[in-house]
Amino acid sequence: MKKFINASIYGVPESSEILIENDRFKAIGHHLPDADEVIDLEGRFVLPPYVDPHLHLDYIFSGLGEGNANVSGTLFEGIQRWSDNKKSLTEEMVRERAIKGIQKELSKGVQYIRTHVDITDPHLTGMKALVKLREELKDIVTLQLVAFPQEGFFRYEGAEDLMDRALEMGADVAGGIPHFEISYEQGVESLKRIVDMAIKYNAMIDIHCDENDDPNSRFLEVLNALVMEKNYGPYTTASHTCSFGSVENSYANKMLGLFRESQINFISCPTENAHLQGRGDTYPKRRGLTRVKELLNNGNHVAFAQDSIADYWYPLGNGNMMNILDNGIHLAHYTHIDELHKAFDLITYHGANIMRVHDDYGIEAGKPANFIVLDARDSYEAIRERAEVLASVRNGDYLFKREPRKNEVEIDFLKQ
Ligand SMILES: [Zn+2]
Repeated sequence: MKKFINASIYGVPESSEILIENDRFKAIGHHLPDADEVIDLEGRFVLPPYVDPHLHLDYIFSGLGEGNANVSGTLFEGIQRWSDNKKSLTEEMVRERAIKGIQKELSKGVQYIRTHVDITDPHLTGMKALVKLREELKDIVTLQLVAFPQEGFFRYEGAEDLMDRALEMGADVAGGIPHFEISYEQGVESLKRIVDMAIKYNAMIDIHCDENDDPNSRFLEVLNALVMEKNYGPYTTASHTCSFGSVENSYANKMLGLFRESQINFISCPTENAHLQGRGDTYPKRRGLTRVKELLNNGNHVAFAQDSIADYWYPLGNGNMMNILDNGIHLAHYTHIDELHKAFDLITYHGANIMRVHDDYGIEAGKPANFIVLDARDSYEAIRERAEVLASVRNGDYLFKREPRKNEVEIDFLKQ
């Protein structure tokens, strides 16, 4: 048995010790029984691993190199550039890219990743590579795969059949991109078929939904209605929904009531959408975010995600969820002290609920011993200082452990 003492545990203020037997938490509390190994955390902040529920591992680093930059900075140029590039894609290339991306995220405390995988490819190259990787890496990272019709469910010939095959191969989630179809009607029809297909395969749903500034883009309303009728809201996620940040309040209030009923989930990608959206605006300039705070207050799960790492859509990104959280809470005005105390939910528990891994997630007796340690005392200090992850533990063992930063040379007058 292993015991971590002097921990400041997120959401469990009354406990300071964690006892682990084999790969599971045995007990959380005070004055727990002795263990063979005792690790003193010296008051540091402990929380469940970061969750990144929206990433594109098959594109990672595709935007690096001469001539690869997205000149206009828009979603549509990103899709065109990827479409040209992916014709020469091999399984090996996807595997290499994905491993680099996973390494980046793991090294920053992420242990759960939902990745979209482009299936508008006759060979399903990305899906084949990632299905293998999901199994190969399952002891160090929980990967979920979304069958994502990047070039459109109808717009790309044969996408419907490819999506069916991807789900048959074991994709966990059915994706979609209705705002990219050529008409509103086709967008609606794509959602109907995707929802039916997901239910047929017992898969979850995660749609790139209204990723634009158009207040009249109303696929969120359609998606919500479809899954509400089938009681499928908790299995469904609307990603992005940037346009919901631009709609009029009376419409938003009506929709919030319906979201409360359906219990549909939301994922917002604050850095990516701050970069992509508002490109047609002069001033005031919109910031690409959905109504994060209102959705949270409404009782819906909302998670933040990285989305891209140096691909055709976004030139930055490094898998650092603290950076995503920091940007997201600023853009969403989620910065009241009470909000800061629970803001980590946006990159931990909410994402776990959205991925529906919540039964095995969290610092509780009986659950897999997965957690991270931050160089801070509590959530407020961790966010204010953008605290670094000092350790990541998976199934009771360290994935990594590092020393807190120290100065090699001390500034003289600061010496005590
Ligand atoms: Zn995406």
